[in-house]
Amino acid sequence: MGILLKNGLIVTQNPAADIFTGDILIENDRITKISPTIENSNHHVFLLDNLVVIPGFIQSHVHLCQTLFRNLSDDLELMEWLQDHIWPFEMAHDAESLRASVQLGLAEMLLNGTTSILDMGIAQHQEIIFEEMAASGIRGFSGMVMMDSGEQPYKQSKTVIINQTEALIKKWHHTEGGRIQYALAPRFVPSCSSALWKQVKKLSQDYDLIIHSHASENKKEWHIVKEITGYSNVEFFIKNDLASSRLCLAHCIWVSEVEIQMLADYNINVLHCPSANLKLGSGFAPVPEFISRGINVSLGSDGAACNNNLDILNEMRLAALIQKPIKGVKSTSAKMIFDMATLGGAQSLGLAKQIGSLEVGKKADLVVMDLRKVHCIPADDIYSQIVYSAKSSEVLHVMVNGEWKVKNQQLQPYHEETIIKDSWKAIQNLIKRINSV
Ligand SMILES: [Zn+2]
Repeated sequence: MGILLKNGLIVTQNPAADIFTGDILIENDRITKISPTIENSNHHVFLLDNLVVIPGFIQSHVHLCQTLFRNLSDDLELMEWLQDHIWPFEMAHDAESLRASVQLGLAEMLLNGTTSILDMGIAQHQEIIFEEMAASGIRGFSGMVMMDSGEQPYKQSKTVIINQTEALIKKWHHTEGGRIQYALAPRFVPSCSSALWKQVKKLSQDYDLIIHSHASENKKEWHIVKEITGYSNVEFFIKNDLASSRLCLAHCIWVSEVEIQMLADYNINVLHCPSANLKLGSGFAPVPEFISRGINVSLGSDGAACNNNLDILNEMRLAALIQKPIKGVKSTSAKMIFDMATLGGAQSLGLAKQIGSLEVGKKADLVVMDLRKVHCIPADDIYSQIVYSAKSSEVLHVMVNGEWKVKNQQLQPYHEETIIKDSWKAIQNLIKRINSV
């Protein structure tokens, strides 16, 4: 017996970009039929009454371990924000505070319609991120964050990093029927030695893993990379044989013409995080240029510590708006941005055949929105409605892998009040730990 979604306005994101009123049949974890009418033969019927059904949103750059640091370190530039605030906070996590942080982030993202994430993990207790992603039902990639270099006290030895990473890959990669996957997480070029990058390359090849890193987020960081490696950021990845469609680079703001062409030539995925780029004063990623060169761009909210929320609807709206004053009003469109949050995310994760659109054979990751709100009507373009008008409060139901994770705006895997209570307690204890050092 499957789940039959009846009478929804279906935004398919299939190659023809079909939008029609109809039904979707979900059996086990996949879409098995989608058409204007599907006869019910004993399926559980879920009436949609013209609500909008879209593919689940995919956030390709988040930091679950930082959700608990929301509103604690504002109005700072990247390097100061990292060295004086975020790294000490991350290192002060114990198992309890990390679990609270991860649950808080997963709860927020599921409630706003995010069904898949690429998370940059943490240096210790990484297992908790995998445990919570598995338990929550989200489709998730994560990996222990790697830092063995640079002028900072939070680095670990390369041997420890590699041994722990390999143990985590063996334990978690492709678990929960493939819903949970490992993504290597070298933090950024300044935090990793060349010996560590060699190991990253080897692990990526041995286990066919995504490499998830940050690049060219901030001008100062760009200069540090140039100083220590002699290369610009994107060039570094190419010279070290790390560039491929399995490379996912967050930000890519300070990139030259030559580097933009390199991103295109090597099919590198750009993970665009407009809120974080604005809040840290980092700059404007040249997204219209990326798109015109055929570079895959997807969206993420980065961390709650530099955003300060994890709302994909916010990210879409900002991604569309921030380009217009400089690049022109036609440089972005609502459809282009909606593609980034769905199809672009799927491609970044190497899951273009599995998720990102509502098509027969694909995983049943979908979101039901109610756009019949005073701030969303009138409308004759569904993409404009979603990208420019809608808020996450329009997300009613969320399904991942054929299972409801949010129903009538109620989280199924978690109790929201408990998460809020646990988070307050955990951050207070974490601050006490920092202050007692
Ligand atoms: Zn980040």
